Amino acid sequence: MTYHIFGHQVPDTDAIVSALALQAFFTAQNIDAIAYRLGNINNETAFLLQYTNCPNPPYLDPKNPFDTLTKGANICLTDHNEAIQSIHHLDDFRLCYVIDHHKINLNTATPAYVRIYPVGCTCTILLEMFDEKELTINPQLATLMAGAIISDTLNLTSPITTLSDRQALARLAQIAKIDADDLANKMFDAKSDVSHLSATEIILADYKNFLFGKDVWGISVIETTNPDSIFARSDELGLAATRIKAQKQLDYLLVVVVDIIKQDSFVLMYEPSLTQLVQKAFDIHTSHNNYLILQGVVSRKSQIVPVIERYYQSN
Ligand code: MN
Ligand code: MN
Repeated sequence: MTYHIFGHQVPDTDAIVSALALQAFFTAQNIDAIAYRLGNINNETAFLLQYTNCPNPPYLDPKNPFDTLTKGANICLTDHNEAIQSIHHLDDFRLCYVIDHHKINLNTATPAYVRIYPVGCTCTILLEMFDEKELTINPQLATLMAGAIISDTLNLTSPITTLSDRQALARLAQIAKIDADDLANKMFDAKSDVSHLSATEIILADYKNFLFGKDVWGISVIETTNPDSIFARSDELGLAATRIKAQKQLDYLLVVVVDIIKQDSFVLMYEPSLTQLVQKAFDIHTSHNNYLILQGVVSRKSQIVPVIERYYQSN
């Protein structure tokens, strides 16, 4: 028996590292497990994998999972639980484990081990699982997991950060013998360098689908230490957003630039109906160039998705 493990589509650092960590959790107990990635590795994750000399996990095509997995295979989801963010044909597999920290939108045909609670990063939950079984974490995995916590919590500054995340990062940094702030600076530099990416690639680098009412939304988050470098490309981003929205047959595509340093967000205004909806949902009236300003907002999961969800419920 083998567990096949993967994080969400359009993987971020936590989606990749949480799958690798769950794989390590099983192999440490002599249980066969393979971690996969459902898409290309982003700049930040690529840096972290190189920094730790960790190979990229193998690719599993989310649209054609049967290319890699047999029907009925044992699968484990990390860093997501919604079918819309996972592989297609989810029901044709045996869902065994779900380790996650997002809102729940999950159906299982058979009983599964589900561990979902609101901490800043899936790897914080995984560290707890290692500890419960008294399994050791090697310095390479500790660095990777520390990187995932830094990435998801913006180095413990995001409002989703909990005491557990702080304690987990401190412990992992100690095991890995690394300075977390130094690693954070290196990762954010890698994330913020988008000069070699097209506008489409920038929008799709950190992108998720959501269903609000009957509407399918795409929400892209561009986290950066250098928002001006993104603002300078607004026209290009607007055209790319319009194209992606049509291609993916979305009702709305939200493009959010997050200033990691100042901790504010900026919503690209490229479509009047979307702009009006966002103004109403978030009750905001200030803008900067082509962007609506979401003051103090940095988290898609805790500060953007719930607001849109509430808007749909009350309208
Ligand atoms: Mn994620
Ligand atoms: Mn995560």
